[in-house]
Amino acid sequence: MAIEQTFAIIKPDATAAGHAGQILGMIEKAGFRIRGLKMIRLSKQQAEGFYDVHRERPFFSGLVTFMTEGPVIVLAMEREDAIKQWRELMGATNPEKAAEGTIRKKFAHNIERNAVHGSDAPETAAIEIPFFFSLAELL
Ligand code: UDP
Ligand code: MG
Repeated sequence: MAIEQTFAIIKPDATAAGHAGQILGMIEKAGFRIRGLKMIRLSKQQAEGFYDVHRERPFFSGLVTFMTEGPVIVLAMEREDAIKQWRELMGATNPEKAAEGTIRKKFAHNIERNAVHGSDAPETAAIEIPFFFSLAELL
């Protein structure tokens, strides 16, 4: 299995609740190498652009409001099979369906306020990482 990169966000709910440290610990323990990390506050335009694929969905405007309500931590990280491994560690979108031991099972409140984001495919990661990181910020 090849080394792969993925993109993650620790969302405003988890950052505000003081869960960032525990989530970063779970990421490191799972063998991800952090290539880029910063705390930022998304503008409305950034959140809309980032979630453009969901623009027509009924939850879009609530999602943008949520994602802009406070700081987030954005991360570029890598390991073998990173995309699938990070999705597994995150757990299902709806925390009621998330497996024991996953981040969303532990920290998500509901299907919207669900603690973390993860790229869903290599092509998505290839768009999402440069959306937030310049080449010079990836170490
Ligand atoms: N979301 C929501 N309501 C839904 C589905 C999704 O508010 O019914 C939010 C939630 O924060 C989710 C994000 O929109 O993480 C993106 O949805 P997606 O289906 O891509 O889920 P993910 O890839 O984050 O598991
Ligand atoms: Mg998604």
